[in-house]
Amino acid sequence: MNTQADKHQWFADVLLPLPLAGTFTYRVPVELVNFIQVGERVAVPFGRQKVYAGLVKQLHQTPPNVPAKYLLYLLDEYPVVTPLQLQFWQWIADYYLCHEGEVMHAAMPAAFKLQSESKVVLNEEFDGDVSSFSPKEMAVMAALSENKELSVEELKTVCEQQKIFPLIKTLNERGVIFVEEELSERYKPKTEWFVSVVAPYTDNAAFSNLIKDLSENKKTARQADLLLSFMALSKNNLTQPIQKAELLKKSGLTNTQLQSLIKKGVFACKRQAVSRLDSFAQTAAVSDIRLSSAQTTAFNEITTGLQTHNAVLLYGDTGSGKTELYIKLIDEVLRRGEQVLYLLPEIALTTQIVNRLRKYFGDKVGVYHSRFGGSERVEIWNSLLNAPNTSHSYQLIIGARSALFLPFQKLGLIIIDEEHDSSFKQYDPAPRYQARDAAIVLANMHKAKALLGTATPSIESYLNAQKGVYAYVRLQGRYADEQALADSGMQAGQCKFTIIDTQQERRDKHMHSHFSEYLLNRIEECVGKGEQVIIFQNRRGFSLRIECQDCGHIPSCPNCDVSLTYHKTGNGLKCHYCEHYESVPSRCPVCNSTNLQMKGFGTEKIEEELPIFIPNIRITRLDSDSIRAKDAMQRIVAAFENKEIDVLVGTQMVTKGLDFDNVGLVAVLNADNMLSFPDFRAAERTFQMLVQVAGRAGRRSGTTGEIIIQTSHPEHTVIDEVIRNDFETLAHRELSERTLFGYPPTCRMIRLTLRHKEEAVVAEGARTLAQLLRQSLHIPTPTQPFAENLLPVSGSTYLLPAVLGPETPIVSRIKTYYLRDIVVKLKRNKELATLKHTLLQTLNTFAEDKRFRSIRIAIDTDPA
Ligand code: ADP
Ligand code: ZN
Ligand code: ZN
Repeated sequence: MNTQADKHQWFADVLLPLPLAGTFTYRVPVELVNFIQVGERVAVPFGRQKVYAGLVKQLHQTPPNVPAKYLLYLLDEYPVVTPLQLQFWQWIADYYLCHEGEVMHAAMPAAFKLQSESKVVLNEEFDGDVSSFSPKEMAVMAALSENKELSVEELKTVCEQQKIFPLIKTLNERGVIFVEEELSERYKPKTEWFVSVVAPYTDNAAFSNLIKDLSENKKTARQADLLLSFMALSKNNLTQPIQKAELLKKSGLTNTQLQSLIKKGVFACKRQAVSRLDSFAQTAAVSDIRLSSAQTTAFNEITTGLQTHNAVLLYGDTGSGKTELYIKLIDEVLRRGEQVLYLLPEIALTTQIVNRLRKYFGDKVGVYHSRFGGSERVEIWNSLLNAPNTSHSYQLIIGARSALFLPFQKLGLIIIDEEHDSSFKQYDPAPRYQARDAAIVLANMHKAKALLGTATPSIESYLNAQKGVYAYVRLQGRYADEQALADSGMQAGQCKFTIIDTQQERRDKHMHSHFSEYLLNRIEECVGKGEQVIIFQNRRGFSLRIECQDCGHIPSCPNCDVSLTYHKTGNGLKCHYCEHYESVPSRCPVCNSTNLQMKGFGTEKIEEELPIFIPNIRITRLDSDSIRAKDAMQRIVAAFENKEIDVLVGTQMVTKGLDFDNVGLVAVLNADNMLSFPDFRAAERTFQMLVQVAGRAGRRSGTTGEIIIQTSHPEHTVIDEVIRNDFETLAHRELSERTLFGYPPTCRMIRLTLRHKEEAVVAEGARTLAQLLRQSLHIPTPTQPFAENLLPVSGSTYLLPAVLGPETPIVSRIKTYYLRDIVVKLKRNKELATLKHTLLQTLNTFAEDKRFRSIRIAIDTDPA
């Protein structure tokens, strides 16, 4: 960019957070040519009078075919996205067949994605100091306190500010305002004012001298007191920020003294998110962890595995102490000055893990989750970027899948805990990525390593281990058991399975509603002994329906093809797919009968029923519904830990990594609906779920845990494999069946879901598209509908590629849209990229047909 003439010829390819193909080219104003960089955000005009914050993906001098508009102004002084991130986004878009704009949208905190229509509101809880705010920032605050909510565009007009985006950015970072998506969030971070010492006073000698000076003058003596209080609170570690409220309380002084010291440049005051977790401080040393001999062997194997392979699969039983191994490994990586990403399937369930890691790594731990407030997410983002305005340095990020998108600089290790969990897969909206798989790719891009840990490996990861793509480490038995044996030679922590045949029990009149007599007796005994019980009920929440006893009518959703579920709270009927809600009818809308009854059961029903059989029992429910309230999850977990609850009844949530030491009994009320689920992964999922639930029992040494499984198929192979904890047999059978019938991981699967408001249109469209796909992939058209499910088997392998469908999904209509599925199966080899390209071309051809233009298509690569 040397000559003047050159300067007029610069263009920026800008990525917008929208579901549109490619980038958009803008002309760079001359005065910005020397400042603009790839990875910075710019305000650009888009569409009719809209302004968006877009990301500069490339700078070049090639004029586009159509005249380019000027970009408006720069939003950042430094790149907020790294080249590696852009490369990673591109991979996600290519592999999962979506637009990069969609990835950008998923990747960036809301505050980075401003547009004219973004809604902005004042943070009602903000009570901070505004003395350092600029007049422009004050104007924005004033405008927002008069109007509850304004769009960015409206703010611009009200405040008469052309460059409104930068003001919104700084106010958001300070926690003064919230932007759009953050508004509906459940988990707003709690923020507090923190006081920190500014250099050069961070030096203990300089600080002490200052105290001395101030105390010699009567007027400033109280400021010296404040400094002394600071020193006491920070235990002489002057780089440690202290909560303002705490400091003022300790010193007994007021804000006036603090403000004087801020003016003198001794202190700075900043709003920071405080964790709702108990402690930030490091309270334990990694070097104090003594590994058992089995753990030591596993640890050495992992270390070697990470040298020879890019990834290691650690298959360690529940309670074997995988977390202790993680902690050791993390410590080593952090010592090398590299960052660690610890991925978990669901952050809501991680209180215990976060607490355990903070114990060793203190405030190096950052928790990142898309449901967290904007300012906290931006803070972690900026910290990882090493942005000039960040003070905190997070080195260990714990997060759910979206944490993959953070701007890591020196990533050394990614731990994917509970790697088998299907919540690593994003289902909707695009990008529909599998975070476990994407994590391996991200690690490779960073030349970092990946460790996948689980007590029940996914068939995918197991196959990779078998093929030698991953190193494989097995850690057997529970830590507690080994310890007990070593300490006293006593046999401890045994787990016993009891399988209850519900059909037989019913015949013998031993079933009381959903409980067998045996189970009720065991619950009572257990609670009597002061032990706790976990009851697992697979059905999501509560699947109670209303059914007319005279005509069999079941109220269903007017927008979706599902029956409505009964909710006790509010005595209403709700749809689980859309927002539809209605009150319970007093008469059947079809036959006018008043004989309406409740059918089916769920966690809510069990919570209500159990006390009928066992009075005075303290029972609490843990499911997606009961934890909706702020902090509810933490409260329930804490109450259970404190033994204020006898019985915890829950859905999948109770299976996920919770570590309670007083559970004597775990019960699975009905294993049948898992086993008979119409999905090729049913056996795998059932095994995972049952083993995980079983792992919650008898975790303390010296106790015997019992696992009761109620089922009408007691002879089922999977049940037997669960009892014997025989994953390998299951895995080998699954792999040979999936090879035979053409299912992942032995092939690649891509599911296309078409939707339209008119059933005839979507049906015709799906038929046409399936036909087009068969043509372009050179697959003969099946002679009978759906026969292709069985046909393409030759010898012992399934013929690929294959196109299945169209089929009508089980839930065939959602939110007034009719659905059709087409499944494409491809070989897992080098041709994949070419075939995907063919697929996209076919979709383009299809989209050009004006009959089908209004059909929407969701593409799901590797569907869960
Ligand atoms: P996993 O994650 O494999 O289910 P955990 O890491 O939660 O197992 O370990 C189970 C229990 O055993 C925990 O309470 C943990 O603190 C304890 N534990 C495991 N290894 C050790 C060790 N080396 N020293 C002390 N306690 C350990
Ligand atoms: Zn009826
Ligand atoms: Zn609905």
